[in-house]
Amino acid sequence: MRALLEKIAAEGEVVAGGVLKVDRFLNHQVDPHLMKRIGEEFADQFRGERPTKVLTLESSGISPALMTAYELGVPLVVARKRRPLTMTGEVYRAEVYSFTKQEANEIVVSRSLLDGFDRVLIIDDFLANGQAALGMVEVVRQAGAAVVGIGIVIEKAFQDGGRLLRSRGFRVVSLARIASLADGVIRFHEEVMNG
Ligand code: 5GP
Repeated sequence: MRALLEKIAAEGEVVAGGVLKVDRFLNHQVDPHLMKRIGEEFADQFRGERPTKVLTLESSGISPALMTAYELGVPLVVARKRRPLTMTGEVYRAEVYSFTKQEANEIVVSRSLLDGFDRVLIIDDFLANGQAALGMVEVVRQAGAAVVGIGIVIEKAFQDGGRLLRSRGFRVVSLARIASLADGVIRFHEEVMNG
């Protein structure tokens, strides 16, 4: 997605430890026009799989996931990192090791929101080692529902998550793939640049 690549090149910042900061359009300040286009792109890619729900993880996955759910005309379910007091009743839960925070979190989703008839499209902002996506896959598995695809805004292709998820048979669509952040320089995956 050329508009996204241009935005990353213009406004992305490389911070220590192979982390890309995109606080000017995705993670802190959010560009609604870009999110709308991202939602349209994911919806076009996955509409044929007939998703019944979009699932993301709070908080930075919400913006692209909401626009995707809107375009598909299905609800968005936001997995919570801390169980809020208002979330009474039974939950699905999974452990997720956070790449950026370097700590394990439990993610929870109310059992009332996913069931065995659901076809779930997982959306997240970044894919690094794949732990967040696998945590959401685990929640879907507990519900007896199906994962119909995984949509990622920015895949860091130099980390293992993409390979891990694809080797397990999931269809992963990434709108931008980053080959390297070495020396503070953002290098995109060639296929994406030529595509
Ligand atoms: P994973 O679980 O695939 O290792 O990491 C994905 C999660 O960590 C995403 O949900 C995202 O919030 C966060 N993350 C991983 N790498 C980056 C990065 O380079 N920049 C930002 N802003 N978040 C990241």
